[in-house]
Amino acid sequence: AKAEGRSTWRFFAPEMEEVVRVRTAIASDIRNALDRQELELVYQPIFSFATGRLRQFEALMRWRHPTLGYVTPDRFIPVAEETRLILPMGEWVIGEACRTAMNWPEDVRIAVNLSPVQFRSLALPRVIEEALARSGLAPQRLELEVTESALLQDGDDVRAMLRELRALGVTVALDDFGTGYASLGYLQQFPFDKIKIDRSFVSQIVTRADSLAIVESILHLGAKLGMVTTAEGIETQEQLEILRGFGCDLAQGYLFDRPQSFATIQRKMAEGVYD
Ligand code: C2E
Ligand code: CA
Ligand code: CA
Ligand code: CA
Repeated sequence: AKAEGRSTWRFFAPEMEEVVRVRTAIASDIRNALDRQELELVYQPIFSFATGRLRQFEALMRWRHPTLGYVTPDRFIPVAEETRLILPMGEWVIGEACRTAMNWPEDVRIAVNLSPVQFRSLALPRVIEEALARSGLAPQRLELEVTESALLQDGDDVRAMLRELRALGVTVALDDFGTGYASLGYLQQFPFDKIKIDRSFVSQIVTRADSLAIVESILHLGAKLGMVTTAEGIETQEQLEILRGFGCDLAQGYLFDRPQSFATIQRKMAEGVYD
């Protein structure tokens, strides 16, 4: 048993070293990522259930690391938040997303994700106003996605921020809905335009009766409260049909397309792939 234990340890040790090495590299290199223009946005299309038409794209951040290759947001955003580098990075995301959307038809909107750190920054409304002014994008074409963790602060501050953002003419979506705490209370307290149902529920609606029930309730509630609803992470036709039956408004997921580079999106649009 002892020998076994040792060989197990030997087996895992190099992997652990690798994990630590990568984490250390991310923490030290992230400071330069913005200056060295290593950040990129990819875009995932979102379609209307009713018409099947392209309605918007969600912008998702990627980091092209000089030695590690593409680093996904789950690995570097926590570090960026700890160091507050997410503030300048997030500002770049908003500016870049607005500029990009200017290349698309006027009825196609753009959604960007906001970190809770950004949402708590009093400078946020000015950052957004400036990005809109500089790009010339109509405010109605910009959507901001926040998660429930952004709302874990003084309720009056949250309401004030939401009011200020919506006064600019942009819309605000509550992302990853259903995964946090006190979700239903938030819907009543805070004026969101949209809720996005988390992928973890969507991926289980075919196999789990409880997920199915939760998704159905969220969609009915959203409709009753006058909010637009999006289901994310749709991967199968079966999931799509169930969500359609429940009256979901917008559909996003690998079934339609993965997030892609601007160049790929432009080519697909020119080819009429999204018509
Ligand atoms: P999110 O906002 O919930 O974004 C959806 C994630 O699900 C994306 O992962 C997307 O690529 C993935 N996805 C979409 N459809 C499917 C599907 O059908 N199946 C599966 N398995 N996955 C699907 P991604 O790009 O790795 O982003 C992860 C998270 O990182 C995002 O979750 C968001 O919370 C955060 N993030 C991404 N970009 C930004 C950003 O610019 N700023 C901030 N603050 N956070 C960002
Ligand atoms: Ca999102
Ligand atoms: Ca989400
Ligand atoms: Ca998520």
